[in-house]
Amino acid sequence: MTASSQISPSDGPTPRAGDAHVTALARALLDWFDSRERDVAWRHERDPYRIWVAEVMAQQTRVGTVASYYARFTERFPTVFALAEADLDEVLHVWQGLGYYARARHLHAAAGQIVERHGGEVPSDVEALRSLSGVGPYTAGAVASIAFGVAEPAVDGNARRVISRLFDLERSTPARLDTLARSLVDAAVDRPAEMNQAIMDLGGSVCSPRRPACGDCPVSSGCRALAAGTVALRPPRREPRSSPIRTAASAVVWRDGAVLFVRRPERGLLGGLWDFPGTKPEEGPVAPGDAGLVEELRDAHGIVIAPLEPAGEAFARIRHAFSHFHLELVLFETRWISGKAGSVDDQMAGSATGYAWVTPDRFEKFAVPAYLRSPLRSLGQGAR
Ligand code: SF4
Repeated sequence: MTASSQISPSDGPTPRAGDAHVTALARALLDWFDSRERDVAWRHERDPYRIWVAEVMAQQTRVGTVASYYARFTERFPTVFALAEADLDEVLHVWQGLGYYARARHLHAAAGQIVERHGGEVPSDVEALRSLSGVGPYTAGAVASIAFGVAEPAVDGNARRVISRLFDLERSTPARLDTLARSLVDAAVDRPAEMNQAIMDLGGSVCSPRRPACGDCPVSSGCRALAAGTVALRPPRREPRSSPIRTAASAVVWRDGAVLFVRRPERGLLGGLWDFPGTKPEEGPVAPGDAGLVEELRDAHGIVIAPLEPAGEAFARIRHAFSHFHLELVLFETRWISGKAGSVDDQMAGSATGYAWVTPDRFEKFAVPAYLRSPLRSLGQGAR
C-alpha cells in the first residue's frame, strides 16, 4: 500500500466511507490474510456452534493450548443439543485444565437458551447473540461475522493493540476501537470474517505486544504509530491491577478409604467444581493449626472431625495465581467422626447433594481446580 498522506491527530474523527487510509489498510490486511491463513482447526469450520465454542475457548488462552480441548469438547458435545442436554458436571470435567470455568458454565447455559429460544440454531442476529449467557461484544461479533458473514467487528486483545497502533490512539476506549474496527470491516465489503481474523492474526503474530516486527508488517506504510514513533506507547498501558495474597485452609477428610469432596456453588470462583471443604480465601496469613477449619466443617457442612494434622509435605501448601489474587492454600488431613454428607457406599449421590466421598481410583472422574490435581495424585499414592 502507499504511505498514508492523511495522518490525522490521535483519536481523530470517524473515518468516512471510502476513506483512502482505511481502504488501503483493509486491502493490505486481506491480501496478507489470504497469503498466510493460519492452520487452526476451527478456521475451516462453517458450523456456527463450533465457531462459537472455538471463539469462547480462544479467549484468554493461547491458540496452541486450545486445539486439543476444542477437539475433545466438540467430540463429546458435537451439537448445541448435546451440550444443552449434558450435565454441567460433565461439561466442567471436559473443560478441566482450560481455566476460567465461568466460560464453560456460560456455554452450557447459553446452549440451553439457544435450544429454548431458537430451536437449537445459533442465531445470526447480533442482538440475539448478545442476549445469550456469557456472550459479549467480542464473541457476538466473531460468531456473527465468521459464521454468518455479518459486517460486525470483533475486538479482542490482539485487535485492540493493532487498531491502537494503526490509528495511533492515545486513548483506546471500547467505543473508539469499535468505530475504527467497524470502518475496516465495512471497507472489506463482503469479507467481514476475513477482516476480523486478519486483524486478530496480525496482533497474534507480527504486531506483538513487546517486539512488533514492523519490518515484516503488511500495513507498516499505513501505520500511524510507526510514523509517529509511538509504537511502544500504543495501546496505552492499563494500570496494573494489584494482586493481593489471600490464604485459606482446606481439609482432606478421610472416611473408610475415601475422601470428602464438596461441590463449589455454581456462581463465583471455580463455580461448580469439586473441592476439599475449607475456609474462604482471605487476606492475611493462615494461622498454624485449625485456622477456623474445624468450625467451618462443623458450621457449613455439619461434620465433626478428628484433630487436624498437617498434610503430607508434598502438598501441604499450594500456591496458585488467579487473575485478581494469589491463593496460598494450606492443606490438613483428618478423619470423619460424625455428621452428614452421605455415605461412602453412596458415592454417586454427590451430584445431587453437593457432597461425595471419593475413593482414590475415582479422583479423576471429578472436575477439580487445576491446583488440586497434584495433591490428589499424592493422596492416591498414600491412601488410608
Ligand atoms: S507497523 Fe508495527 S506497530 Fe504498526 S501494525 Fe505493523 S507491526 Fe504493528
